[in-house]
Amino acid sequence: RVEADHPYMVHIGKDVFNLFSDTYRELLDSADRIVILADEKVADLHLESLLAHLGPYKASVFLIPSGEQAKSVQTFMDCHSFLLEEGCSRKSLLLAFGGGATGDVAGFVASTFMRGIPYIQIPTTILAHDSAVGGKTAINHELGKNMIGTFYQPAAVLYNIQFLKTLPPQEVRSGMAEVIKHAFISNEAWLAELLEVQSFNELTDEDWMLHLERGIAVKAAIVEEDEFEGGVRKYLNFGHTLAHAIEAHLGYGKITHGEAVALGMAYALSLSAHPRTEDFLAWCQVNGYPLEKIQEISFEEVVGYMKKDKKSSKGSLNFVLLEKTGQPYMKTIDEAAAETAYGQLREKIG
Ligand code: NAD
Ligand code: ZN
Repeated sequence: RVEADHPYMVHIGKDVFNLFSDTYRELLDSADRIVILADEKVADLHLESLLAHLGPYKASVFLIPSGEQAKSVQTFMDCHSFLLEEGCSRKSLLLAFGGGATGDVAGFVASTFMRGIPYIQIPTTILAHDSAVGGKTAINHELGKNMIGTFYQPAAVLYNIQFLKTLPPQEVRSGMAEVIKHAFISNEAWLAELLEVQSFNELTDEDWMLHLERGIAVKAAIVEEDEFEGGVRKYLNFGHTLAHAIEAHLGYGKITHGEAVALGMAYALSLSAHPRTEDFLAWCQVNGYPLEKIQEISFEEVVGYMKKDKKSSKGSLNFVLLEKTGQPYMKTIDEAAAETAYGQLREKIG
């Protein structure tokens, strides 16, 4: 349960779709129309299964581009056109079916269609354990990622872990970076467990459930305390200052978000002199995170973007630092110190 402005439940497991005819029956019954906004690739793989579970509930489906391309003004408008053509009203219900990108654009559509209609998040990526909880919605502007959006909580999150089995390896890595981020900012024992993982293939369904549940719990607790990001919610940006700079420098889509976050966390840990820095670098290495990018990208190429980060003010360099697991804090770092730390990280990576 997430105690936001509008509280809602996050359900995770293999049978969560049974809730359509149970806990969420009233919500579905009261909808005059149900529209699924689905990532086209996810629809290819899993739409049939979702429709089968909806059973008697008739839903119309609108396919949106796979992944980040969906977070465009064009797709946003196309979704609205579809809803209007379908005769949707303020009593209609949206289902967001896909990864974080789908969730972000579908949530934004839900928050703006006739000033807001309910929506259910049906996330299909590991990373979406993060993005589907917390109610941040967004599309991208040419001048910046996530620059247009709202805070708008879903009516529920139904997270079916069966769908994760078709994820390509780099998307598994991407999502696991946000999982381990949640461990770093909350719990050393859990972190130690994750750092033991030598290959994500060795994780069982039970392991996935456990780690995803813990990640969701950390995210939900922070969102509850600070729904609109005035304070502690900033800690969720651990690793993100450099990550956003790397994504912007390489071009969005050239590296997955989570892989960039892993590099950003390596940097933030090194900057913080966290005792787990070397362990984390070794974990990144065995699990295939692209650490070589740190050697390929110079500090000069990223520093400008880091100064422009949403969380930075007036060209200063702001980081979430972590000297001890579970105790993140914000710090402004001067450019020379940030550059030295970048060099030190490069040496550690070797
Ligand atoms: P994504 O939605 O772009 O999906 C990644 C790729 O995986 C896509 O090609 C997609 O088609 C494919 N895919 C999705 N599910 C699949 C499945 N089950 N099997 C096979 N392929 C599948 O990526 P993401 O990593 O889930 O989300 C990234 C987005 O989330 C970014 O736009 C980021 O800004 C956003 N985000 C939002 C928040 C938030 O709080 N709102 C938090 C973190 C990230
Ligand atoms: Zn992130």
